[in-house]
Amino acid sequence: MKGFCEKCREMVEYNVKMVNKEKTIKGRTVKYVAKVAYCNECGEELFVSEIRDYNLSVLDAAYRKAEGLISVEDIEKILEKYGIGKRPLSLLLGWGEGTLTRYVDGDTPSKPYSDTLKRILEDKDYYREILEQNKDNISPVAFRKSMTTVEGDASAHETAVSKLESAVKYLLMQTSEITPLALQKLLYFAQGFQKAFTDIFMFEEDCESWVHGPVYRNVYDKYKGYGYNPIEEKELSFEDINLTEDEKELLDHIVSYFGCYSGKVLEHMTHTEEPWRVARRGLKDWESSDRIIEKKEIASYFSSVKEKYKMLNLTDIKDYSKDLFSKLCS
Ligand SMILES: [Zn+2]
Repeated sequence: MKGFCEKCREMVEYNVKMVNKEKTIKGRTVKYVAKVAYCNECGEELFVSEIRDYNLSVLDAAYRKAEGLISVEDIEKILEKYGIGKRPLSLLLGWGEGTLTRYVDGDTPSKPYSDTLKRILEDKDYYREILEQNKDNISPVAFRKSMTTVEGDASAHETAVSKLESAVKYLLMQTSEITPLALQKLLYFAQGFQKAFTDIFMFEEDCESWVHGPVYRNVYDKYKGYGYNPIEEKELSFEDINLTEDEKELLDHIVSYFGCYSGKVLEHMTHTEEPWRVARRGLKDWESSDRIIEKKEIASYFSSVKEKYKMLNLTDIKDYSKDLFSKLCS
């Protein structure tokens, strides 16, 4: 370790000792253990900026401890624990919007502000009360995000939006008029082509081989009220859509090449495909079935489609959709 010694007037090796110190801040005397650097040549104390920074942070921590003030780490814990940003939390508390930003940057909070923050950290119900009472101070998005975090922290993975739900939401937003039947078919094509192109299925859920084609049961249950009419979901937003950019891109291509067909046309398309037929082997066309369309059937069928149509890019999916359509008409 080298530093500049004022006395020797040159860069010198130094050693560091821990030294007990006292400092009076705002009328309170704070004890702390500082680092001090000494020149190896002359033994004089010398200035090292990293050591100064270290001492300041130790002093700050000692002062906060003596005063019972919240630490920066604990403030950051609050933000993480409740899924809230510095600005929204400041606003929820009726403080200036930059208050928490300053605290996180190292400003020392006053005792009452600190006490409020400490209580928030410890008492989830207290925070929830503040969140509910002052939600008009923050955006609906920030409110929902924080509420979800507060409610979900015991079972976080259960409240995470599934890929299937996310894909449904994304497809509803990217299409103007889509019926439950058409939606099911787009999901199925997305599942198949995502597997063919990336070797990973988009959804964990299995679909069933119903009379009208492949059906994801949860999605059916959610939208069955629409019958053969387009789904009208209000308040759709890109918030909490749990999809990667690649997955969105694939869905965009599915919408482009299959979204233009009616649910009925798509139904006939999927009837010509292997996986649905295999799952329904031995059943009459009108016989209802909740048999699973096995993922391995979907995987092998769509991989053979990709090969047959020599697909290199997602845009090549178009050849397949056109071909299916022309076969229906012939
Ligand atoms: Zn020296």
